Amino acid sequence: MKRDPYEVLGVARDAPEREIKKTFRGLARTLHPDVNTDDPNAEEHFKEAAEAYEILSDPERRRIYDRYGHEGLQSQGYSSQAHGFGSFADIFDAFFGGDPFGGAGARGSRVQGGDTAVEVELSLEEAARGTDVEVTYELVGACERCQGNGAEPGTPIETCERCGGSGQLRAVSQTAFGQLVRATACDVCSGDGKVARTPCTECGGRGRKAQRRTLSVDIPPGIADEQRIRLGGRGHAGERGGPAGDLYVVVRVTADERFLREGNDLITLVDVPAPAAALGATVTVPTLDGDEELEVEPGTQPGTIVTLRGRGMPAVGRGRKGDQQVVLNVVVPRNLEPRQRELLEELRGSLSEENLQPPEDESLFSRVRRALR
Ligand SMILES: [Zn+2]
Ligand SMILES: [Zn+2]
Repeated sequence: MKRDPYEVLGVARDAPEREIKKTFRGLARTLHPDVNTDDPNAEEHFKEAAEAYEILSDPERRRIYDRYGHEGLQSQGYSSQAHGFGSFADIFDAFFGGDPFGGAGARGSRVQGGDTAVEVELSLEEAARGTDVEVTYELVGACERCQGNGAEPGTPIETCERCGGSGQLRAVSQTAFGQLVRATACDVCSGDGKVARTPCTECGGRGRKAQRRTLSVDIPPGIADEQRIRLGGRGHAGERGGPAGDLYVVVRVTADERFLREGNDLITLVDVPAPAAALGATVTVPTLDGDEELEVEPGTQPGTIVTLRGRGMPAVGRGRKGDQQVVLNVVVPRNLEPRQRELLEELRGSLSEENLQPPEDESLFSRVRRALR
């Protein structure tokens, strides 16, 4: 069963032609597959709307439909062409003289330049403080000799004779839609509408040229490995006056064996010999601001974590810093000399149950968790 075209477009039976065109155009935009990527029926819906538009946009067809319905049109030998179109871009070309999403790009329109990317490598300290780095990258930029217009300096740029300066070639054909005008980019001026009488010797008249560019990039404090910084308009030059693409600076933060990064926190492992853990000691802890001394309490257990507040990485764009978690790794002596064995055996003999009790404030759960860290 074919649906009522008025219902498909959602317009009143006496809607003027102008309104029908406007409604269809809006509907076509929302049903366009570039917008409706997750709706598998978008194409069918679109074709149904196109068919409804075919009928209602033609006064004669509309009159027949109003009186006799779909059968009336059929008996007149009418059949929809909406299903015969290859792509959405073709349909937009047919109805509106262009795809609203610029898919085809062959109509002499402005074309945005492509994006490009460059990698920078930073140490963890640089990532923590933020830094300025110079990046050098290759891109297709506007030719400097001709300023992008493709003409040898001092020579004239003339209106293209083939397309008369419009940049487009039009082919007109008669279809059931009415007159169908298809525009393609002019093959002489590639859509510019203008041609250089003497092409630029530097770029061969293309107006664009591969070049090397160096740029200073401000890296904000706290940036993480694989984060990207977007610099708008620093990518490849556009065509026919289109804007340039973007440059992405991909940040690599080299691994630092002293620190493990977890979000904005830094984790450091510090070895503490077992006797020092039992007796208490001072150990050296590496921090982003240099080495620091840390007091280890007598009776410190393996896996104890000391938190240095605000000594981690800054959060990008915010003032707050993460913490540095210092994990105390109690190292049990190995390869003992006979004399050392003697001393330890003596120690073992002297230990009471009280010496070997875990700290009072610690549950079994937190002890297991500490052991598994
Ligand atoms: Zn040039
Ligand atoms: Zn031309």
